[in-house]
Amino acid sequence: MRNECYIVRDLLPSYIDQLCSEQSRIFVEKHITQCESCAQILQHMKVEFDDAEDVEIPVRLEQKKPFEKVSQLIKAQGKFSNILGFSFWSGIVITVILLVFSLNHLVLWQNDQEEVQRVAQEQQDIMDKVFAVLMEPETPNEQSLQIVFQQYKEQLQHIAVFPSGAVEDTILDLQTPSTTYPVEYERASIVIGEYGEITEPIVPIDYDIGTMAMANEEWVVQFEYKESYLATVENAHQIKHYAPSSWELFLMPIIFSVISFFIFLIWVYHKRIMKPMEV
Ligand SMILES: [Zn+2]
Repeated sequence: MRNECYIVRDLLPSYIDQLCSEQSRIFVEKHITQCESCAQILQHMKVEFDDAEDVEIPVRLEQKKPFEKVSQLIKAQGKFSNILGFSFWSGIVITVILLVFSLNHLVLWQNDQEEVQRVAQEQQDIMDKVFAVLMEPETPNEQSLQIVFQQYKEQLQHIAVFPSGAVEDTILDLQTPSTTYPVEYERASIVIGEYGEITEPIVPIDYDIGTMAMANEEWVVQFEYKESYLATVENAHQIKHYAPSSWELFLMPIIFSVISFFIFLIWVYHKRIMKPMEV
């Protein structure tokens, strides 16, 4: 094959599409009168071209447009735009999936918060009832305290009442039901338990969450939870102090919606700057 053949074969597609220059056309035509193999290739290509003509002409013209580099740039930009669009919609889908997960968690989270509220309310109720008994004229009234204890015997090991003078100042500061390190029970005026007044020494549960205390000017009330109920109290305590806040539940969907939003902005901006180039 001669050197000319290489050149001619490069030119053949443009020649068929009638897109090559006048000189090239003459050059090709002159060559194929002398070169049998190139003439055959041309014939072959023409047949192929005719077969595909209907569908391929616009595509082929597109490929051989002048300013081919601009055309390629537009194509690359178009691809980039597609990637942006795809990323945006992916972001939306991920956001929706995460949102569903978060909403599911929110239901559990709300149940947990209700449980925390219930335990706190129960603590307050016990204290209120005991202090109400202590306000009665013939205080301390052991029978009335026993009634309160019976109401909460599933939860409580015992209730103790101390004169405020018998405890440390730190305990006296407890204006609401608070966890505390247990005050020794021999200092109590009354201790009420499941079998009435408890006379033998009580070993406090060695865990401050199990013991609650509250004080007014005159009395300090301390109750201790039963072992069997301690897990419930402990669970509520954990949730209260370590559960995520409600907005933290939605952190992931928030992050993905923000990312999607920024991709959307870039996409729209990119489309706007691309518009004049596509015309
Ligand atoms: Zn040739």
